[in-house]
Amino acid sequence: MKIGGLIKFTLIDYPGRVAAVVFTQGCNFRCRYCHNPELVYPHLLQGSMPEQEVMDFLHRRQGTLEGVVITGGEPTLHEDLLRFMADIKALGYLIKLDTNGTRPAVLEEAVKQHLVDYIAMDLKAPLEKYSLITGVEFDPKTLQRSMDIVRTCGLEYEFRTTYDKEVLTDADIRAISDSVQGQHYRVQECLPVAKEKATLKVMHTEL
Ligand code: SF4
Repeated sequence: MKIGGLIKFTLIDYPGRVAAVVFTQGCNFRCRYCHNPELVYPHLLQGSMPEQEVMDFLHRRQGTLEGVVITGGEPTLHEDLLRFMADIKALGYLIKLDTNGTRPAVLEEAVKQHLVDYIAMDLKAPLEKYSLITGVEFDPKTLQRSMDIVRTCGLEYEFRTTYDKEVLTDADIRAISDSVQGQHYRVQECLPVAKEKATLKVMHTEL
């Protein structure tokens, strides 16, 4: 795994759980409001954190932390993600996976192997506007497949949209909400990137 950072304690990233957050490096989207460019753009990537360092930390926090959030970047791009999740599961942690939904086969396998307990999937825009947010073209059927997996997997889940008002309208938000029958759906404010930079500093803070 290429790991770009670790938050050692959070009460807000895994609903109802005391958790740590692992940030993976690399993403196949280039969202205009991306708050973690240091995890996305190859020229901004810094050295990776050794995976063993993360696992040693999780060993030490067994019984104190309940869950681990795996986020990015886009975690499902990593070929060894399922193995990494299995290693974390073996320590007794719950796992929340954040994803942009572009690798449904990985999601499906994580569910099938009981490696994930909570899935949070981004719905960035109505399909016809997706590339205006993400900066890339891709087959929208992959997103639909991921949505179906998330909705039917029987696990806790959420869909979420960052409301970029320069691209999206209220009608777009309603359309996205309707596409998931308004269930488990959350809209979050689009913060200016400069403000989000403060979050990145927290990412590397020892707690
Ligand atoms: S999917 Fe997330 S990490 Fe990737 S570019 Fe978009 S906002 Fe950034």
